[in-house]
Amino acid sequence: MVTESWSEDIDYRDAIKKQAMLAAIIDSSEDAIISKTLEGIITSWNEAARRMFGYDEAEVIGRHISLLIPHDRQQEEQMIIDSIRKGLKVQHFETLRQTKDGRLIPISLTISPIKAGDGTIIGASKIARDISEQVKAQEEIRMLNARKDEFIGIAGHELRTPVTTIKGYLQLMEAQAENGVASDFLDKALRQVNKLNRLIGDLLDVSKIQAGKLQYNMIACRLLPLVREGVETVRQIYPGHSIDLILPAGDPVITADGAKIEQVMINLLNNAVKYSPDATRIEVKVKTSEGQAIVSVKDFGIGIPPQHLEDIFNRYFRANSDSSAGGLGLGLYISKEIIRRHSGDIGVESKEGEGSVFYFSLPLPE
Ligand code: ADP
Repeated sequence: MVTESWSEDIDYRDAIKKQAMLAAIIDSSEDAIISKTLEGIITSWNEAARRMFGYDEAEVIGRHISLLIPHDRQQEEQMIIDSIRKGLKVQHFETLRQTKDGRLIPISLTISPIKAGDGTIIGASKIARDISEQVKAQEEIRMLNARKDEFIGIAGHELRTPVTTIKGYLQLMEAQAENGVASDFLDKALRQVNKLNRLIGDLLDVSKIQAGKLQYNMIACRLLPLVREGVETVRQIYPGHSIDLILPAGDPVITADGAKIEQVMINLLNNAVKYSPDATRIEVKVKTSEGQAIVSVKDFGIGIPPQHLEDIFNRYFRANSDSSAGGLGLGLYISKEIIRRHSGDIGVESKEGEGSVFYFSLPLPE
């Protein structure tokens, strides 16, 4: 008997020690840790909760948790309690809560059910993390990005005017030049000016996309002439490459901004040439299937490493930035945006060292 009560004593002391340790951990936490009943009555309140919300423990124990919830967010409590009653955790729920002096603070909430020994849910523990700094940093990044996009737009406009003038003079000179060395040089200069114009166009498009101001002029048009136009443009820029066309029997009619679809074609074809330093063949295929027109551009170039396949449609992303092919990493981003605005899809299949197939689909009218 004596031994038994002695060991019970040790168990009891152990439990007290453990409890004190847990209490110390909870009190030294940087996050507010609060527990409440299923009715929302606050039952415990740690030191960080006092710092975050400004209430002392004695002021809040026994009061309803709605004390911390801003007026227009009161319905959140019901949603949280509904999840808790089902035994579900609410994780990283980003919201606003109100302090004693009426300030609103952005917080991330994680709320877990508290279970009694028999498994019944008797309340909830709530961990609140102050994410003011994070929200401020995100807002700053958003603002800097907006300023960067605005700058890109202004720089694009400023660059476009002199380049257009230079192009005009070069074209006049070319018209008057005799065939020969000078004409060759003028031809080369014009090619570079056209390239510069395309780069400026991409910069302007990106700033318009960001501002939601890229205009679309959607009309019913035939797809094949747009594909052919794109192919012709690129054939003229790269006469050394052969672009094979595989076309369907009919000519699908789509609702589209033709100039923009041509822009996508030129971009995919340009890439096909740029990233194929040792190949000169490109295959363009158009087909229709299940209410869609599908256009693909196949090259036999360097291909894309599998880990980059998802990223290449992102703004400024370049998978082969060490290759000699220059670029801003904008063409595919713009193409994706254009196809998305046509309710279509764009994608790629690629094998490193063997080549890539880029394709886009556009819905056909029913
Ligand atoms: P840019 O060509 O100006 O870098 P894009 O947005 O057109 O920008 O392409 C993004 C990246 O995708 C390229 O930098 C390149 O790494 C990769 N890429 C695009 N097309 C091809 C292709 N046909 N073959 C291999 N890599 C490609």
